[in-house]
Amino acid sequence: MLVVMKNDATEAHVQAVVREIENLGYRGIPMPGAQRTAVCIIGNKGPVDDSRLLALDGVKETIVVTKPYKLVSRETHPESTIIAIGDVKIGGEKPVIMAGPCAVESEEQAFTIARLVKKCGALVFRGGAFKPRTSPYSFQGLGEEGLKILEKVHNEIGLLIVTEATDHTNIDVVEKYADIIQIGARNMQNYSLLRRAGQASKPILLKRGFAATIDELLMSAEYIMSEGNTQVILCERGIRTFSDNTRNTLDLSAIPSIKEVSHLPTVVDPSHAAGRREYVIPLSKGAIAVGADGLLVEVHHDPSHALSDGMQSLYPEQFARLMKEINNINR
Ligand code: PEP
Ligand code: MN
Repeated sequence: MLVVMKNDATEAHVQAVVREIENLGYRGIPMPGAQRTAVCIIGNKGPVDDSRLLALDGVKETIVVTKPYKLVSRETHPESTIIAIGDVKIGGEKPVIMAGPCAVESEEQAFTIARLVKKCGALVFRGGAFKPRTSPYSFQGLGEEGLKILEKVHNEIGLLIVTEATDHTNIDVVEKYADIIQIGARNMQNYSLLRRAGQASKPILLKRGFAATIDELLMSAEYIMSEGNTQVILCERGIRTFSDNTRNTLDLSAIPSIKEVSHLPTVVDPSHAAGRREYVIPLSKGAIAVGADGLLVEVHHDPSHALSDGMQSLYPEQFARLMKEINNINR
């Protein structure tokens, strides 16, 4: 249930509602919006008796939320959420491009790629320091050394950093260095990691699992938000289907579907969906055209020597072309 406050309700009114919800044995999470604040009740198993809530000053009405997810729902927060990190606004008017290598391999590699993606207009640098690899014998990432390189990229080149936390042993250190913490497709339903991400002080980029429905993705985002972190960016990165022409099948319908029911910004990773660089530009253009709030793209200055995902990494000149071509697309 949502307790919708009047337009002129004060912070004291909102706090009185939260206390009354706690007296009833539930939790109340205020969701401020441009027009009004709503307080979302969580923890109830069935209908809530709203008579005492309706009697409080500043309360306009109560609304029953029809979806299993609440905090991520547009019913709770009708305006689209914009996540502002410094000057970068994810979910605003312009799509935000996050680009970089699959993995940080060395300082020289990271700086070379960061300089070129920044020159083309990317605002966020991507690069894994902890890599979830299918084989235990594949390159697993540089760990904290990689995070320190990313911090240097942030400080010297002026790009925000998105990088993955793969489990509870590295989320603390990732939180320290990253501007955005990525939770990967394989971990979309790692509920203890999601709860920990919900206690983080940084925004979370949550990738859709390769066999997850949109509702499951939204329920995972709900785990994060229910712990208090409302800064969640969703990411469509391709799902497993019978089609084997691409590494995964990019589900572009996910973007309008998510936007219909959720206020969270949603970006697309065309690289892991395609698995081949030849398809990354057309898929990126499609993603922007259907309303994605940004892209997460793999770029490498020397893909044939990349330690992971070289086949799907764009050459620098391809990334420059992608940036030019998406500029003219109306969303
Ligand atoms: C990545 O972004 O490098 C990655 C491993 O992505 P995913 O979790 O989508 O496979
Ligand atoms: Mn990758």
